[in-house]
Amino acid sequence: MRFSGRTWQVWEVLVSRDVFTSAMEIHQALWSRGDTISVTAVYRSLHMLVDAGQVDVLLGPDGQHRYRRCSPTAHHHLLCRQCHRAVEVHDSLPGQLSNGRLRDIGFADDSIRITLVGLCADCSPT
Ligand SMILES: [Zn+2]
Ligand SMILES: [Zn+2]
Repeated sequence: MRFSGRTWQVWEVLVSRDVFTSAMEIHQALWSRGDTISVTAVYRSLHMLVDAGQVDVLLGPDGQHRYRRCSPTAHHHLLCRQCHRAVEVHDSLPGQLSNGRLRDIGFADDSIRITLVGLCADCSPT
């Protein structure tokens, strides 16, 4: 990857955490360690990383886009709505959404990602 210094700073924050993180949280993390980066630069960097396929983005249950460094192979997400931790699911699509069915309704299946939102073990009340 060849990115600007700003993008590397954003990348470092993403690499250091396993949860889906909003642009504002990344911005805060950088400021708290003394990197005076603008929110605009954070967003621009995130878009570059997403375009480069290095980072996944999804719309969190709080209505904010959240970003995470994921494995490069296609996968779905189990997302905790409280701590935004995510588990990658590499199984194929459930039967009702099989490739043939999707083609029947005119959908290409190459980039479909499913996000299941719930509570992780740590956040579940026992
Ligand atoms: Zn992912
Ligand atoms: Zn959780």
